[in-house]
Amino acid sequence: MKDFGYTINPDRQINYDQNSKEPVYWLETMEPSVNICISCGGCTATCSARQFTDFNIRKVHTLMMRGETHSLKKEIKKCMLCGKCQTVCPRGVNLRNLILSIHKILEFNNL
Ligand code: SF4
Ligand code: SF4
Repeated sequence: MKDFGYTINPDRQINYDQNSKEPVYWLETMEPSVNICISCGGCTATCSARQFTDFNIRKVHTLMMRGETHSLKKEIKKCMLCGKCQTVCPRGVNLRNLILSIHKILEFNNL
């Protein structure tokens, strides 16, 4: 096939019927500030782990809210719990507790 210099990304549809929303309900109970995030990206921009890895806290948050938990267990371990992200969050999201809560939910429910 002729090389046109670009590739077509594989189709990525999200089937919400297959994703469990239970982890989101648990997370909302454990850390209610999860719902006031405006996805500004400030946390990701200042993240300490982001400087050394491909860790993206905003992506973790989005995947969790979608119920796409399958890859999160490995991903969340990259966070150093330094709390830097929390200091810049304009909405005051308690990110450290959010991360710890996600960690507990994934661990205790074997997700
Ligand atoms: S800095 Fe706060 S409001 Fe902005 S994306 Fe991160 S958690 Fe959400
Ligand atoms: S607590 Fe985790 S997500 Fe927040 S800045 Fe530190 S390493 Fe990044």
